[in-house]
Amino acid sequence: MTVPNTHPHYHIVGAGLAGLSCASLLAEQGAAVTLYEAAGQAGGRCRSFTDPLLDRLIDNGNHLMLGANLHAFAYLDRIGGRQGLIRIDPVRLPFLDVADGRHWQVSPGMGALPLWLLDRKRRPPDLGLLDMLAPLRLAFASAADRVGDVLDMKSPAGRALWHPLAVSILNTDPAEASARLLWSVFKRTLLRGAEACRPYIAGEGGLSAALVTPALSHLTSRDAEVRFNHRLRHLEIADGRVVALGFADGARPLGAADRVVLAVPPDAAVSLLPNLAAPLESRAILNLHFRLPAPVPSSLPGGLPLVGLVGGLAEWLFLRGDVLSVTISAADAWMEETAETISARIWAELAPHLGRSGQTCPPCRVIKERRATFAATPSMESRRPAAKVQGLENLWLAGDWTQTGLPATIEGAVQSGHVAALAALA
Ligand SMILES: Cc1cc2nc3c(=O)[nH]c(=O)nc-3n(C[C@H](O)[C@H](O)[C@H](O)COP(=O)(O)OP(=O)(O)OC[C@H]3O[C@@H](n4cnc5c(N)ncnc54)[C@H](O)[C@@H]3O)c2cc1C
Repeated sequence: MTVPNTHPHYHIVGAGLAGLSCASLLAEQGAAVTLYEAAGQAGGRCRSFTDPLLDRLIDNGNHLMLGANLHAFAYLDRIGGRQGLIRIDPVRLPFLDVADGRHWQVSPGMGALPLWLLDRKRRPPDLGLLDMLAPLRLAFASAADRVGDVLDMKSPAGRALWHPLAVSILNTDPAEASARLLWSVFKRTLLRGAEACRPYIAGEGGLSAALVTPALSHLTSRDAEVRFNHRLRHLEIADGRVVALGFADGARPLGAADRVVLAVPPDAAVSLLPNLAAPLESRAILNLHFRLPAPVPSSLPGGLPLVGLVGGLAEWLFLRGDVLSVTISAADAWMEETAETISARIWAELAPHLGRSGQTCPPCRVIKERRATFAATPSMESRRPAAKVQGLENLWLAGDWTQTGLPATIEGAVQSGHVAALAALA
């Protein structure tokens, strides 16, 4: 079945951020690339679309990036997508306590050493230096330790800062989430000063205008082939290599030098490679997008288009034009609720803080991403595979769920694509 060829052709399966970063790096190196995607569009779990109910462009879920996301910014610079992001300047993360209406901000200082922690004005009110230094204990956590074993989530610091940050970073209840995974993010951000902590959010064109559409243009301008509505159904394997890719419309035989990167979610990878160990337990994320009636303020409490929420049902609030978006992490318990119930509960909680007490709930699109991320527990962490698939010489894996050392994030997905591309090139 193998077709003789000397120049490898690179077959990337899955056009999420891992597949796009892998394919764009390969195409930039002059490699011949085909990208296959099961859906009719690219972006996977990070995409934008025009919603008919709201008549607005929305994202499947609002995404927050940080200055520490070096692979993601290298990718954005390669594809020309950086201008699609809003850079928060000066660096600060505002928070609102929905229980009592207080708001504050965390504003990391410049410089590599976290000396800013000494400055009371840069940390949440009522928290002392020891509260701010508590996460250093995560550095000594074992692979089995959970965040809740190391940090007291019921303390004032836990409630005001560490719980909201941990659940949004890991998308897993801190009581069961891996302490080491949280440390992998804190050591790259809070310990590295302001630039590493700088928040970035999608601009007017949404996530796709920054992270997806420019990648597709980058690929087509380098003669890469992009095939939508192409779900890989099976891998044909012979003599320790993949020799053909099976799609609904037939098998695509591979050349002797061809290489394959599977950049699909873990359940899809396991259906193609049944012996693969993978983190199959997942956690949900819930997003609500309210279209506000005019007039609309240009910022949220705290003065920015985003604010972290404490003491209530949700974790983040974002404002883009007249669309107010709410993110609830580790949202599995919400999945069976109706959209009407969810939007009414969240609106009732937030409206008073937006000067909209008593206003009826505006039109709302509720998006349930049931398998938003792998569960960031110690046991799932131990099941994340390396990029190289053992026993198959021309097959690599990419995806936020592979062994990146990071939680399921844009940075992890893009990094995994880069790692797989460089390994396949070598
Ligand atoms: C609601 C939500 C909010 C999030 N918020 C943040 C955030 O604030 N910050 C952050 O950094 N990260 C966030 N994330 C995580 C981030 O979106 C993901 O880590 C990242 O998008 C994963 O990219 P990926 O390429 O690994 O996987 P995916 O995006 O899942 O891409 C896999 C692709 O493979 C395709 N596919 C599947 N099976 C096949 C097949 N057999 N053949 C061909 N194609 C196939 C799929 O259709 C998909 O397009 C969030 C995720 C969600 C869902």
